[in-house]
Amino acid sequence: MAVETEDVDADLKSLESRLDTSNYPKTHPLFSDKNKKALHCWKNEAGGGHDIDEMAVLRPKVYSYRSVPNKYAPEQSTELEIKLCKGVNRKAVKRCLTFDMYKRALMEQKQFYATFHNIRLKSNQLRTTEIRKLALSAICNKRYWLDCGRHSVGYGSVEIELFGGDCWRCKQKDPPAALQEVSRL
Ligand SMILES: [Zn+2]
Repeated sequence: MAVETEDVDADLKSLESRLDTSNYPKTHPLFSDKNKKALHCWKNEAGGGHDIDEMAVLRPKVYSYRSVPNKYAPEQSTELEIKLCKGVNRKAVKRCLTFDMYKRALMEQKQFYATFHNIRLKSNQLRTTEIRKLALSAICNKRYWLDCGRHSVGYGSVEIELFGGDCWRCKQKDPPAALQEVSRL
């Protein structure tokens, strides 16, 4: 996904009532405390001081992105690489995973493991166990993944019946005639 626009802040300005921009730098024109923690409001993951450059999202709460400071960033801001992986110890995420791994998991269907240690009480003795856990994988069984590996549809979607695993989104912009036909019914 890519956004093409002259001025993304101007675009967002028109959606202001639905945005929580309380995490923006105070000098940013979109900064406002009005919707702080308000329900059903969108928040900019990177705050207004950084622009997301590249992002790889594998599953809910499993994603990584690179962001660069923009003109509203506080001084001494540097490029950031944010990594999140639900179910894996935070220190292990920091130590074992890189943005490129998230990207390769997504684009090349590769899998990456994280290794970390846990201390557990077993028969009244403290034991250290080493855990090796599948951290990154593009396999998501909550959706029906098409052959391209980039797009998915919900189970039971009419698209599966019409095209099997073939992805039209990767080949053309508009939905194929057969699909338009069905949505008109
Ligand atoms: Zn596709």
